[in-house]
Amino acid sequence: MVTKHPMRNLPSYICGEWKAGTDKLRSLVNPTTESKIAETSSHGIDMAAALDHARLQGGPALRELTFAQRGQILKSLAKSIHEHREELISLAIQNGGNTRSDAKFDIDGASFTLSHYGDLGEELGAKKHLLDGDMIQVGRTARLSAQHILSPKNGVAVHINAFNFPAWGTAEKMATSLLAGMPLITKPATATALVAHRMIEIFVEKSLMPKGSCSMICGSPQNLLSLLTGQDVVAFTGSSQTAQMIRAEAAIVKHSVSLNVEADSLNTAVLLPDVSLSSETGRLFAAEVAKDITQKAGQKCTAIRRVLVPEHLIDDAVEAIGERIKEIKIGDPSNKEIRMGPLATESQFKDVKQRLGALIESTEDGYGGSGEVSPIGVDNGKGFFLGPVLRKAKDTFACKAMHDDEIFGPVSTLAGYSGKTDDALKAIRLGQGGLVSTIYSDDQEAIIKMVEGMAPYHGRLVIGSDKTAAQSPGPGTVLPTLLHGGPGRAGGGEELGGLRGMKLYQQRTAIQGDKRFLSSLC
Ligand code: NAP
Repeated sequence: MVTKHPMRNLPSYICGEWKAGTDKLRSLVNPTTESKIAETSSHGIDMAAALDHARLQGGPALRELTFAQRGQILKSLAKSIHEHREELISLAIQNGGNTRSDAKFDIDGASFTLSHYGDLGEELGAKKHLLDGDMIQVGRTARLSAQHILSPKNGVAVHINAFNFPAWGTAEKMATSLLAGMPLITKPATATALVAHRMIEIFVEKSLMPKGSCSMICGSPQNLLSLLTGQDVVAFTGSSQTAQMIRAEAAIVKHSVSLNVEADSLNTAVLLPDVSLSSETGRLFAAEVAKDITQKAGQKCTAIRRVLVPEHLIDDAVEAIGERIKEIKIGDPSNKEIRMGPLATESQFKDVKQRLGALIESTEDGYGGSGEVSPIGVDNGKGFFLGPVLRKAKDTFACKAMHDDEIFGPVSTLAGYSGKTDDALKAIRLGQGGLVSTIYSDDQEAIIKMVEGMAPYHGRLVIGSDKTAAQSPGPGTVLPTLLHGGPGRAGGGEELGGLRGMKLYQQRTAIQGDKRFLSSLC
């Protein structure tokens, strides 16, 4: 049973205190019942004071710590999330429409990522900065040498997160920024802020971080971005429309504020012609496409949106994917049997319906029509439910809605291609850059051609084969050891990837001088 939480006003955590906004309250709604469960506002909060507090208290306190000490903090954050796992799952079900499994994906992803960066901190040990590459001789003799170092920027890291992963999104940015030695102000997406808010509340209750190293804004960021300067950083995850507004923010342009953007992506799954749908690789393909359409009701930035199969396999592929989807029960996510819940918000529901309408014009039904569904255990007509949909493109290359528009819900489009590598690559590139795509094949030569053609357009590529089928987490799972981000439409950002994830928060500096002094830095 899901615990019922009383209606709450979510305050922000600013300058070491909880502060509620005074006006312009925004509501948080349970997307299954449409009842209001919380409200929040940041109106009247002094953003300049928030930045000063982080810069003047949090920054120096974190920079005093070694990587090992920062790593221990991250481990304590991971542990505290784990201790409150059931409570956070319950909030995710209520506020995000997550099934229990969706909620675990988000919340366990958060604690796993913090814990991974905690381990990395311990491995880095008693240092406070990192070396970048080896010492280089720059003079006539080796006495005059140079060393590149990476040290924490002296400003604040502003973290703006999307609605779909309130726990993981908050934690993955915190992990890299705190380990690098930068204080942060995190801003969860307002509509699903309950989980992130509770996480920060737990961290504060347990005093797990130095004063000023972690603040949180609930609601609008108000004028925060206009107050940033050259030592500050913004890490943004969300739609490309919002990203464009943030990129154009005058203070960000004027002070060259480092900005990382994680945005939309039309991720592809491509089946190469050597694979039959009854083979192990073929079954993996169908299972992963079905999972990505339905997990979190398709609200994953890494979800497979475009499915390319050799033309003669179109109907078999639709059948194989459809067989798996039809097993999935849709309805009230607090019921343990339910495998897919509603979309997270009403505006999200309307947006998906509208975009799906445009897609329907240039496609045929594969599975699920236009998403009509009778959700189990939900009052008639209530909730933001859409059934899983697989569309078939009428013309692979001319189907603009498939290649141009990310439908952030349980919708994918399947299209045929000739079976030739060049044709598959041409279709994939119409997506204009993505986070992750998957090649399903056991043909080594063809895989190499696809990797060479796809790599410049992606941050991550997954090869689904019979050798890895038994242990594949699927392309939708983001791992802290691997890069997350992608070029072009995906925002051009890079997050995670082990130590690479700290780069946004560090300044690289070349130090030239006497080799003996430089050796002392090492
Ligand atoms: P969104 O509407 O762009 O909102 C993202 C965040 O930006 C929210 O916290 C939002 O705050 C904030 N925001 C809105 N306007 C702002 C402004 N003018 N200045 C500063 N912040 C502002 O995106 P979403 O609907 O939450 O998320 C869905 C999108 O995110 C999808 O397109 C998905 O592909 C993308 N996404 C990408 C990744 C990735 O890693 N690449 C991961 C997850 C999601 P409020 O909530 O208060 O409006």
